[in-house]
Amino acid sequence: MTKTTREVCLGNVSRRDLFKVAAGAVGVAAIAGLAGSEALADNKMAKGAAQYQASPHNGQSCGKCANYIAASSTCKVVDGPVSANGWCSLYAQKG
Ligand code: SF4
Repeated sequence: MTKTTREVCLGNVSRRDLFKVAAGAVGVAAIAGLAGSEALADNKMAKGAAQYQASPHNGQSCGKCANYIAASSTCKVVDGPVSANGWCSLYAQKG
């Protein structure tokens, strides 16, 4: 008896087994996606890389920046505490 292409390709693997493998792959991809999102949310630039300095620059300062979080003296994009009088190259004027 001649086997069809489908029978040759699937061998002894059942459709149920194939579904389990596919479902597992989708689950792994979903978990990897979530982990990636969390990593991006916490991924702040180091002060050195952002050229952070503890003093204002041309009238610009963290206190006037849209990224500054006054309640915690932190920044949305630069790691660690920052001063309201500090400045970095990622400065973004408040709207
Ligand atoms: S982006 Fe730079 S200037 Fe703005 S708050 Fe953060 S550290 Fe300060």
